Amino acid sequence: MFDLDGTLLNVDIDYFLEQYIRALASRLAHKMPPEKFARQLMGSSMAMIQNTDPAKTNQQKFIEDFFGKTGLSVEETMPIFDDFYANDFPRLKHHARTDPNARRVVEAAVKKGYEVVLATNPVFPMSAIRERMRWAGVDDFDYRLVTAYEEMHFCKPYLQYYTEILNRIGRRSEECLMVGNDVDEDLPVARLGMKTYLVRDCLLNRNNVAYSAHAEGKLADLAEFVESGKLDEM
Ligand SMILES: [Mg+2]
Repeated sequence: MFDLDGTLLNVDIDYFLEQYIRALASRLAHKMPPEKFARQLMGSSMAMIQNTDPAKTNQQKFIEDFFGKTGLSVEETMPIFDDFYANDFPRLKHHARTDPNARRVVEAAVKKGYEVVLATNPVFPMSAIRERMRWAGVDDFDYRLVTAYEEMHFCKPYLQYYTEILNRIGRRSEECLMVGNDVDEDLPVARLGMKTYLVRDCLLNRNNVAYSAHAEGKLADLAEFVESGKLDEM
């Protein structure tokens, strides 16, 4: 299971999110002051992440909170969002960097016969995830699952997010490896008995906590780890 932002895609996620929110806010500026929009987008994203109601998708949770609080029309506003992701979002590419080791590691895993899951936090629509996968150079592999907000019912760091993946792919946590760069979001899955690999290129440890991963290294080290067969022995 591969995280995307800061793992396969070399990006400073806080700076990227700032640019993304600014760009989206400007598209809605005729309906809402950009600063207010930015605050509400972040607030509703947080509400979505913290809402663990299994009966609603992340998208439904976001829509409920955002449109409930802004009073904007869903019918008028959602097409603007969709247009933004189709036409403006791709232009944010220059805030991220392609690391050839991303393609190298996913390719190695596929060649070794592993099923691969793109386990990015499902706070984005599939179109925005596929776009960032293109930036990382890893969009054309046959993923068992790509976790997008239209389909998933939970977010990282909640363990239900990982349980939902396991249920959907029919695997036990002991059979899987989670690869990620975020101590708070990608490592807690170890509590389910899953192994973890911490990718250090864009390491995030926001609360400076003591952590332990089963293995860690740069993305290049991980590629070597998979290619050399060390993953098979893990
Ligand atoms: Mg990440």
